[in-house]
Amino acid sequence: MEQVQTELVETITAFAQSDLASGTSGNLSARTDDGMLITPSSVAYQDIGQADLVSMSPDARWATTRNRRPSSEWRLHLDIYAHRPDAHAVVHCHPRFATALAVHSREIGPFHYMVAVAGGANIRCAGYATFGSQELSDNVLAALEDRRACLMAHHGLVTVGDSPAAALALAIEVEALAAHLLTALALGEPPLLSDGQMNDVLNKMQSGAGYGSSPGEEAST
Ligand code: 13P
Ligand code: ZN
Repeated sequence: MEQVQTELVETITAFAQSDLASGTSGNLSARTDDGMLITPSSVAYQDIGQADLVSMSPDARWATTRNRRPSSEWRLHLDIYAHRPDAHAVVHCHPRFATALAVHSREIGPFHYMVAVAGGANIRCAGYATFGSQELSDNVLAALEDRRACLMAHHGLVTVGDSPAAALALAIEVEALAAHLLTALALGEPPLLSDGQMNDVLNKMQSGAGYGSSPGEEAST
């Protein structure tokens, strides 16, 4: 528990210093042995320390040391942990470029090979529903099928990862992709990579020859 707590607070600090943060929008969580730890609702990120985190059990009973309330999106985070065993951390935010695409309910298609970092040939956009609602959680889980990221119509972005740092790194990557797509759209609809080209990228990333491995570690395929 202590290690998860430390990792989550470090990631919250990094999030606060990134371009992803705007006001108190967004929320971060990490899976624990007995549920999850989640950011408090409506608290500025630079002010969040370990004592501000809220712990919540899978049946939504929560405890806090500083009289905080859990993030209004606790349902979404809890449902992701219940349905996605691969998810050990969740980042939700309203960053500038991803949100601009989301207000158009636009998915990120295979216009760039890095779209594959989210696990497939596209990054879907979940249907709109009121923040904090079960309907929003259901829409996001559907859009996240076989993916580690999705946009949320008229709202923002969600990523999952095997650690808080991984979920944050993916959110930064998706925001960069959204910025590239919006820039490319100035010249019209960009051409897309084919299924075969995206499958090659997905296979290469999954084979261990992905980002972060040194040239000497590249798997021979
Ligand atoms: P909280 O401050 O309650 O986490 O809500 C922010 C948000 O992004 C709601 O979707
Ligand atoms: Zn939100």
